[in-house]
Amino acid sequence: MKPLIIANWKMNPVSQKEAENIFKGIRKGIKKVKSEVVVCPPFIYLSELNGITLGAQDVFFMDNGAFTGEISAEMLKNLGVEYVIIGHSERRRYFGETDEIIRKKISKASQFGLKVIFCCGETIEEKTAGKKEEILKRQITKGLSRINDNINIVYEPVWAIGTGNNCGVEEAKETINFIRKIAGGAVRVLYGGSVKSENSGEYIKSSGANGLLVGGASLDAEEFVKIVKSAE
Ligand code: PEP
Repeated sequence: MKPLIIANWKMNPVSQKEAENIFKGIRKGIKKVKSEVVVCPPFIYLSELNGITLGAQDVFFMDNGAFTGEISAEMLKNLGVEYVIIGHSERRRYFGETDEIIRKKISKASQFGLKVIFCCGETIEEKTAGKKEEILKRQITKGLSRINDNINIVYEPVWAIGTGNNCGVEEAKETINFIRKIAGGAVRVLYGGSVKSENSGEYIKSSGANGLLVGGASLDAEEFVKIVKSAE
């Protein structure tokens, strides 16, 4: 299985020109790599970028109609988008996404043949209270109705996202194994949370992660390319 390395640009950068510059830098740098690389820019840049597999950062669960501001799975599919991130902790936290909503989004994305990047992970309060496994089990069993080749699970401890406080490799390994047990079957499980080129290779080599979801560091083309190469 080739490592899957995903760039999540979140609500960045601020212009099409900047998006194209970062994208071009990544495209040039990964020409010879064997890993699968996916870039997830904001929706508005998707139609202008090509040459690397594209992912969206979200999708709505209805087909079409009076849902102001939303983007459907079919729209993404028609644009040539292959992947979609669903259940990111920032969407759970700031946009009130529940396990139910996430389940509906996954089901709609799958119906249109989009590959799902499903994020799960515990907050620092949940971790401190010894509830990590309970939370992961709930997120996975309630969010995912079935596992197939189009589902990728990312373990993203919320306390590690954008904090510089990445999860230790041993802890990531234990948690990834736990997720595999809960999900059952040969699902790809990735790690995300303050991944940089200094720690990325270690996750691939020692934690058993099948890939990485990279936020902040993916906005620097050179750094992101180093991360991709470290997984080879
Ligand atoms: C993310 O956005 O999923 C993420 C892991 O962010 P960062 O790499 O910045 O922690």
